[in-house]
Amino acid sequence: MSRESRAYRTEGIVLRRRNIGEADSIFVVFGEERGKFEGVARGIRKARSRMRGHLEPLTFSRFLMARGRNLDVFTQAETVRSFPNVAADLDRWATASYLLELVDRFTVEHAPNRDLFHLLYASLESLDGGSAADLVPRYFELHVLALTGFDVYLDGCAACGGRLPPENTLVAAAAGGLVCRQCRPEAGTGRLLSVPAIKVLRHARRASLPEFVALRVPGAVVEELRAALGDFVRYHLERELGTARFVEELRASGSITAQNADT
Ligand SMILES: [Zn+2]
Repeated sequence: MSRESRAYRTEGIVLRRRNIGEADSIFVVFGEERGKFEGVARGIRKARSRMRGHLEPLTFSRFLMARGRNLDVFTQAETVRSFPNVAADLDRWATASYLLELVDRFTVEHAPNRDLFHLLYASLESLDGGSAADLVPRYFELHVLALTGFDVYLDGCAACGGRLPPENTLVAAAAGGLVCRQCRPEAGTGRLLSVPAIKVLRHARRASLPEFVALRVPGAVVEELRAALGDFVRYHLERELGTARFVEELRASGSITAQNADT
């Protein structure tokens, strides 16, 4: 086989690293073209490695890869876009790490999802640009659910399809969205959402991210959304995806996990 056919170029946002051996690391990357993939970077933890800094979680980089027998190998890495304001702010960094982890948990390898890639990129850009750090993850949660097959139904009762009057309304993950009064007994556990919270959710569903984060949303409503969307994320990760450890972390930390990038 020629050298050319064993090498290829690709790019993506680094989600996670795992160190192996003395100086190597495995990186998990989410790319527009390839979806989630991983590869090994040999010697990256040595001071003279030229890939250091270009292969870090929360960096959008371009890579030259070599096909390996088991794992492909990162042979070159070059930063396309970093998010320095996120990296410099602990709260934003924790939020961004949570988004990276959601992408990791809600995707399987080698299944491209361009819309999800664009959502992640836009969300990191938005956080980096100083947008409301409490609204970006709520928008992200709603849309990551929709883009991975777990859409939250908001346009009527998720159980019977009936119209919903403008009043406090149950939202239940097992039912798949909002639930009318008649269907409540069979809906499973959930929580009541206020009319303003429902309006904001519906807006989040239709609006672009920049439109959504420009909204002024009262803290109590943001808190309602955080709790309700957290229910959906936990429900699907637990039931469909079985990522119990992450769910425990979510529970313990109130939906934000700081990614432990270097251990
Ligand atoms: Zn109903």
